[in-house]
Amino acid sequence: ANLVAIVGRPNVGKSTLFNRLTKTRSAIVSDTAGTTRDRQYGKCDWAGREFSVVDTGGWVVNSDDIFEDAIRRQVLVATEEADLVLFLVDVNTGVTDLDEDVAQILRRTKVPVLLVVNKADNNEQIYEAPVFYSLGLGDPFPISAATGSGTGDLLDAVIEKLKPGEAEDVEDGIPRFAVVGRPNVGKSSIINAFIGEDRNIVTEIAGTTRDSIYTRFDKFGFDFYLVDTAGIRRKNKVTEDLEFYSVMRSIRSIEHSDVCILMIDATRGIETQDMNIFQLIQKNQKSLVVVVNKWDLVPDKDQKVIKTFENAIRERMAPFVDFPIIFASALTKQRIFKVLETAKQVYLNRKTHVGTSKLNEIMLPLIEAYPPPSTKGKYIKIKYCTQLPNTQIPSFVFYANLPQYVKENYRRFLENKIRDNWNMHGTPINVFIRQK
Ligand code: GDP
Repeated sequence: ANLVAIVGRPNVGKSTLFNRLTKTRSAIVSDTAGTTRDRQYGKCDWAGREFSVVDTGGWVVNSDDIFEDAIRRQVLVATEEADLVLFLVDVNTGVTDLDEDVAQILRRTKVPVLLVVNKADNNEQIYEAPVFYSLGLGDPFPISAATGSGTGDLLDAVIEKLKPGEAEDVEDGIPRFAVVGRPNVGKSSIINAFIGEDRNIVTEIAGTTRDSIYTRFDKFGFDFYLVDTAGIRRKNKVTEDLEFYSVMRSIRSIEHSDVCILMIDATRGIETQDMNIFQLIQKNQKSLVVVVNKWDLVPDKDQKVIKTFENAIRERMAPFVDFPIIFASALTKQRIFKVLETAKQVYLNRKTHVGTSKLNEIMLPLIEAYPPPSTKGKYIKIKYCTQLPNTQIPSFVFYANLPQYVKENYRRFLENKIRDNWNMHGTPINVFIRQK
């Protein structure tokens, strides 16, 4: 999928535009359990094309007080990672100094940029838009993110600028693993530990126009693709400390993977940056293995310390808690193979298909014993269930007479029973209640 980043100084309307672009899609997605709407990252569908949108302002705690330097650095990260940048300016303020600064950065990059003049709510304001030609970024695009006027034309222009996704020659049925995590957590180190000195076991797949995102690893009984290893090795000291940086760096890998290996630094515990990445994984419905790295640096490694660590992680990631946690060291190579074994198993769990008769045989008696509580005097009956074929993640449908009266906690009960009976460790699942 392509990635579009919205940049601009505070209060030009970035989050309003973000909401407008992602609105239709989020409404559908947020109906799925576990996916939360947030203001920073979402998907947009337009004219049959799907792309991801990031609002760079979403990472600024207090936009009014943000240092100009921080804005410049966010723009830099956006230009490195995005396929297209929407540079938003405000028609009412005209060209400001900070707009000039941002434009200067954008003029130097190779990434395509669309100059979007926001708050053009009426014709008079639309006539002011040509002022922004002085930024040297081509035709200004007047829109009103608030009313939506002009956004259809803008989306047409976005689609036109986005290159069609390059079809890469990846073999079906081979797991794709992404190693993700904050800067310096040990991503490059663990990838080097996997690959070792033996360069022959990895093959870069020839990409058409840019470096391939997939690297094939086939040895020791493991056969998988590592996603975007080049992106992990590429470092930028100027921008690495931004919270936003690790998010932008992770999006592509996460979107292209089946299983994400989320690395956490044992010496720091779980922090906001880790949670940001975890949310990206959840939103994309990817499977998860958590690796607590730098375990060699933890002095007392008894069972109690391990339990405390595990509980702290699961508590932060609740309600999704059914995933493996591995304590490892990329440096000493402790449990490195365990990480691969686990990722492989989680991939298989993600591909689980439960036969309909087996599913009903186990689930119907459970439902009989704990039926959905009747609501408003309505008697709810679940008659039958099945797993949908060919879905991204295991997806189950329970057919009921009155699906609208089945509460979220009952849906969760069904999910937990499925997890109790089949190994879905590490993988999100969907549980739908539908009308028979
Ligand atoms: P990345 O930014 O996530 O790719 O992190 P790097 O792989 O570059 O690692 C950052 C630093 O942490 C380097 O100095 C590594 O040598 C160190 N490091 C990585 N993994 C471990 C580990 O398991 N134990 C220890 N002690 N240091 C590690």
